[in-house]
Amino acid sequence: MSRDVGDVRVLAAVGALALLLWAAFSFICRLLCWPRTGKFAVAALLLIGAAAAHFIGTYGIFIDKGMARNVVQTDWREATDLLSFRFALDVALRGILPAAILVFLVEVRYAPWRRSLMQIGWHALLLGVVGAASVFAFFGEYADIARNHRELRHLLTPTNVANSAYGLWKESRAQRQPVTRLAEDATRPAASASAKPLVVVLLVGETARAASFSLGGYGRPTNAALAGRDVVYFDSVTSCGTDTATSLPCMFSDLGEKNFSVNKANARENVLHVLQRTGVGVTWLENNSGCKGVCDRIETEDLSAAGATGLCASGECLDAIFVDALRRRLPKSNSDSLLVLHMKGSHGPAYFRRAPSARPFAPICATAVIQSCTEESLRNTYDNSIAYTSEVLAQSIDLLAADNTRDTVLLYVSDHGESLGERGIYLHGLPKLIAPAEQTRIPLLLWMSAGARERLGVDTIKLRERASRAASHDNLFPTLLGLFDVRARIYDQNADLLGTVRDRSPELVGPR
Ligand SMILES: [Zn+2]
Repeated sequence: MSRDVGDVRVLAAVGALALLLWAAFSFICRLLCWPRTGKFAVAALLLIGAAAAHFIGTYGIFIDKGMARNVVQTDWREATDLLSFRFALDVALRGILPAAILVFLVEVRYAPWRRSLMQIGWHALLLGVVGAASVFAFFGEYADIARNHRELRHLLTPTNVANSAYGLWKESRAQRQPVTRLAEDATRPAASASAKPLVVVLLVGETARAASFSLGGYGRPTNAALAGRDVVYFDSVTSCGTDTATSLPCMFSDLGEKNFSVNKANARENVLHVLQRTGVGVTWLENNSGCKGVCDRIETEDLSAAGATGLCASGECLDAIFVDALRRRLPKSNSDSLLVLHMKGSHGPAYFRRAPSARPFAPICATAVIQSCTEESLRNTYDNSIAYTSEVLAQSIDLLAADNTRDTVLLYVSDHGESLGERGIYLHGLPKLIAPAEQTRIPLLLWMSAGARERLGVDTIKLRERASRAASHDNLFPTLLGLFDVRARIYDQNADLLGTVRDRSPELVGPR
């Protein structure tokens, strides 16, 4: 087939699909059109459609169940960042205006119900004929799209909104089930009387992408604050999901990305519960939009709720609040413990709010309407947030390093990456299968006190070699168990990032 004929055929297939969608959507609208309620139902569809189309068109996002979950679980402070003047204008022009015209100016004459039923019947027949004809004519093209571009359905508004809401509703109903216990055989060797407490600080980053870490080769000094602190950077790490609501439960779960679903994770314990059961003191400190169920039955402190220090404004706190919390909590950690700090990180689109005003990179994009900024200023603003995260990490390391009465470890891993306008895509949350690397490649870094290195028997050369190989969120579960020498059948030494770099694996045996 010559190229010209192929092009014509593709055009015809697209045209037929447009006709089919028009017939289908007008049929749905027809079903909603009854006296008194009809206008309002269609007006509501116009408003929902305008809002969804704005986010799809502006940020290149998809409306799927994960996105609906994000909307429900996000706190309103973050949501207001997305509600810009452009959003208002867009919804006014594409939603409110046509809805108002429909409600106030269009006069609808309703036929008697018998005739209405007849009209609906004719419409259904038309839909059936158009559907059958276009599928018959272009079956190959449509099958190809359905197989290879399933994600397109997330762009079809407003069915995407209805579909996502339905999926989320089904999920919330499924959640009311008892929690399955995990690794009930887990034990830890009794600490010798002379051993210092081991304190592991896990900083869970937010929206930090590996592409913007100078430790991983990025050309600007975004990690300058960490220089000389002997951190080990893992430079080939992938996230489980592309949004917080997926990645956060996934990274603490034993399920691994392949078997993970939010539903399954909600119905079982995670690594925090296993550690807690073996006697590790586990605490979750929150400075983000909540732990998405991960910290249920774990001691939790919401630092942004305290908000008293000079670091908080209008209900949001800078991540340096963790340094204060560490200074306060570290002296009280007198037994082996894990502190999880859920950072605000680089959460967009208001990146400029993620760091104090005096920053290395300028000019910045001081608005949440990031598409209106130049590529350069957007990059500057995002890079400032990464540089600030580096400072928070550096200050935390310095605090831990100065404590000689404890063995300390700091582990940092982001939840997912971010698109900053590459190929017209912004923010994150695209389905993992089609998400660009900017959204899925994440930074992970490790720092250990001399005492912790000695205690764990870490071979630095082997560790650096391991850090250069691929890793993912799946490695976090076994790594946390390994750090605390937990023995359990579920522990997989090879998946533990330190499992193969310890020169004496104490009584660390995997499957027994
Ligand atoms: Zn996130």
